[in-house]
Amino acid sequence: IALYGIHGWGDGYFSINEKGNVVVMPNKSSDSCVDVMDVIRRLETSGENLPVLLRFPQIIEHRIWEIYRAFTGSISEFGYQGKYQPVFPMKVNQRKEVIEYILNYGREINIGLEIGTKAELLAALTLDLPEDSLLICNGYKDDDFLRLALMFSDKHKIIIVVDLFEEIFDILRLARSMEVRPLLGMRVKLFSKGSGRWAESGGESAKFGLSTIECLELLKILEENGLLDRLRMIHFHIGSQITDIHRIKHAMNEAARIYAKVRKVAEIEYFNVGGGLSVDYDGSKSSGPSSANYTLREYSNDIVYTLQKICEEEGVPCPTIVSESGRAIAAYHSFLVFKIIGKKNSKDGFVAFPLEGDPIQIEDLYFAFKNINLKNYKEYYHDALHYRDELLDSFNLGNIGLEERAKGEMLFWMVCQKAVSLARHAGDNSEEFRELKKLVGQKYIGNFSLFQSVPDMWGVGQIFPIMPLHRLREVPSECGTIADITCDSDGEIKSFAGGKEAIELHKLSRSEDYYMGIFLLGAYQDTLGDFHNLLGCVTEVHVLVEGRSWRISRRIPGDTCEKLLKFFNYDTEAYLQRLGERCATEPQLEAVLEEVRRALSTTTYFNSPCLASETDEDK
Ligand code: PLP
Repeated sequence: IALYGIHGWGDGYFSINEKGNVVVMPNKSSDSCVDVMDVIRRLETSGENLPVLLRFPQIIEHRIWEIYRAFTGSISEFGYQGKYQPVFPMKVNQRKEVIEYILNYGREINIGLEIGTKAELLAALTLDLPEDSLLICNGYKDDDFLRLALMFSDKHKIIIVVDLFEEIFDILRLARSMEVRPLLGMRVKLFSKGSGRWAESGGESAKFGLSTIECLELLKILEENGLLDRLRMIHFHIGSQITDIHRIKHAMNEAARIYAKVRKVAEIEYFNVGGGLSVDYDGSKSSGPSSANYTLREYSNDIVYTLQKICEEEGVPCPTIVSESGRAIAAYHSFLVFKIIGKKNSKDGFVAFPLEGDPIQIEDLYFAFKNINLKNYKEYYHDALHYRDELLDSFNLGNIGLEERAKGEMLFWMVCQKAVSLARHAGDNSEEFRELKKLVGQKYIGNFSLFQSVPDMWGVGQIFPIMPLHRLREVPSECGTIADITCDSDGEIKSFAGGKEAIELHKLSRSEDYYMGIFLLGAYQDTLGDFHNLLGCVTEVHVLVEGRSWRISRRIPGDTCEKLLKFFNYDTEAYLQRLGERCATEPQLEAVLEEVRRALSTTTYFNSPCLASETDEDK
């Protein structure tokens, strides 16, 4: 059996049961869990076409409280004289349902929102925000954005963060004309940088944040305008997914010192550490770009301890700590379920033998295939390459026919497969055999779009955990990459956790579908995805688990072809009307209309009926 590292990246939310199926435990306890295959079977029996995004809202709840408990635990461990208040950055997942779950599950601890655009602010204002929560306005702010923030500042605790120095002049102008005294924040540009893929968000060349000289200038301007008492927050953010705890310690030291100095002239209430809390996507617990070399408690301890120490040294009060961890809250709660709908590069089932009259190279290839072993696999593989080239030359000169060429290709393939397996046994990791392994590897075709569902895998080469959802008590016998259904060669998963270039999979069966999942998709992936090849959003299903029972609490249908065409300004109605001109008879028109209408109403993905429909409940 292969466990696909589930106990590393799964962080207690995912495991494998005795049937060999993936199970989800939304509160990390086996007392409350669901077999993913039960959910899939129920969906398929009710006519659902995969792919489907499964959301487990209770994982969001668990994450919010786990982070909260880590901070409050650190606060009591170090006797910190301040509080902790969480904020969710909307950019991590703007879906209304997700934001509503976050606000509801975190209502008791006043979870707030961080927004970075006018549209995000409008979206946040439509929601039922917890009474004492913070609404932090970051990003580029035009007059419309600022007017909205100022207008609602008596209804919500809105903090307008000065992210760029020049913004203060617009804020002052509009605040004066609207007679509002807004609460303000100051984003500082730290010298310390993060680590990992988003390290450029921090450091001197960062896009946002005020340099030391700008911070001093801002304090002066606020004082001159009678608003120094409204500066309530110091904020910094050195990038998402900080994989190395040393970077966090470093940044904390610098930022806490800045807080302490500013606190001596302004009544700063909040110390906002931004995001950065990493998710261990590959389960390696390392400082590699898809992981984290620290635990949640280590993170909260470092923040609380450093702040406490510096506040004591500088003789200033301890502020309320605010964190904007979005990835760490949202990543775990959703994953994509899709079916393998085919295999490419597959020459399984064809076996070739030399016959009387076949060219000598075919006999040589067959000899290599029969006699290749652990001692001679390199030599015989090189021989096979030579025979294959000779055979192709013969074909190009017109000396042999297509049948002989096909037989030669097949025999060469058979030698390659044996050579790869022997190289594996010999522990041969040379480039030559790594390349050969890729060549003989299978390409499994998955019914999904990498660009729509896992855009960061394509865009920034991030690793996401991927594995079969069943048959996990069987030893996988094959190896391959996973291609999606877009017509783009980039639409292929070729990098897996542990630096692997292929994933071990099971032999496909004719009587049962093969289901796979791509996990930890709840942060950024939901809204960053694009519509490459007009493949749209997949259907979403929300699952609630109570003890051993579970239910589907919500289903949000995926995009239909019609919706996507409209999104890209195609006028489907006009097209349907014009169809009459192309049909000779009324029945012909009826038939065409029916087919086109039906196709328009289907989802954009491959329509693959399920092979095995027996559910556990049917048994
Ligand atoms: N806060 C700010 C200002 C950000 O720019 C970001 C994202 O980069 C976040 C919070 C979210 O950080 P994370 O992805 O680590 O949750």
